Amino acid sequence: MRNVVIIGSGCAGNTAAIYSARANLKPLVVQGHESGGQLSMTTLVENFPGFPEGIQGPDLVGNMKKQAENFGAEFVHGSLLEADLSRRPFRLNIEEEWVEARTLIVASGASARWIGLPSEQKLIGHGVSSCATCDGFFYRGRKIMVIGGGDSAMEEANFLSRFGSEVTLVHRREQFRASKIMLDRARSNPKIKFLTNTVVHEIHDPAENLVTAVTLHNIATRETWRQDVDGFFVAIGHIPNTSVFRGQIDTDADGYILSKGGAKTNIPGVFHAGDVQDRTYRQAITASGAGCMAAIEAERFLEAEGH
Ligand code: NAP
Repeated sequence: MRNVVIIGSGCAGNTAAIYSARANLKPLVVQGHESGGQLSMTTLVENFPGFPEGIQGPDLVGNMKKQAENFGAEFVHGSLLEADLSRRPFRLNIEEEWVEARTLIVASGASARWIGLPSEQKLIGHGVSSCATCDGFFYRGRKIMVIGGGDSAMEEANFLSRFGSEVTLVHRREQFRASKIMLDRARSNPKIKFLTNTVVHEIHDPAENLVTAVTLHNIATRETWRQDVDGFFVAIGHIPNTSVFRGQIDTDADGYILSKGGAKTNIPGVFHAGDVQDRTYRQAITASGAGCMAAIEAERFLEAEGH
């Protein structure tokens, strides 16, 4: 029987682990298929307070893990395969081993949706990014490309226009999903050039371990061409990792957990932390803050139940 099981090992899960381990609750952290969360895929993080020179994403999240382990948190590899939250203790199938838990912190994050090219996967952190706030700064005076036609793409293109010498927004259709106000703002930005009906065929150059150019294809004119690019930002949405809780934890239509205030979900004893509930801020520091909140709530819940 575990006092606290934490699903996810990004900033939210690791911070929840630090706090609940320090409260002597000996949390079990299920690391998931992307151990370390989205930070483990980035390079330099310059906006996490406390690191004036910046810190490598994998180091930051690795340090958090070590810090949690120092206080007695236990980490297991693998994923949560099944969960029965219908009664307490909760029952969790972790890689075919059933574990009982008095409280559960869901910090399983949201995965960036990627286009799906092998070159894209190889160049993540080397010119390919899913986070303008995190990586825009590295492309000062450089050529930037943003992929997507929703509000995120408009927001990222506008944000990135502060840094790049030019921003090209590439969208696969003629019509945009973005709200009119966000689209108009991007359209009126002189630094942003729009390419519609255009898909990405290839990102160059995995052999150099650096983004240098892309091959684009216009599906209306059937024209294919190569264009020089330094920073390639994919803004085609996120997928919250909540499918294993479907029908138990309340979510919105896109699968993001609906908060019932603080870190509470609709199920007493189950708490949320980080991007799995947050579609707005999605920052390492806000995820860490949310992890702290969830751990404090779990601790108080256990105390109120007499554990
Ligand atoms: P979204 O609205 O789902 O838009 C995703 C965009 O990516 C769509 O234009 C889609 O094209 C495109 N796309 C999807 N898969 C693709 C693929 N494989 N290849 C190329 N393009 C692909 O996602 P979002 O922009 O992240 O926004 C999510 C939610 O957050 C929305 O409700 C949005 O309003 C909200 N949001 C609000 C703000 C704000 O108000 N400040 C900022 C950001 C996000 P199609 O159109 O062809 O499907």
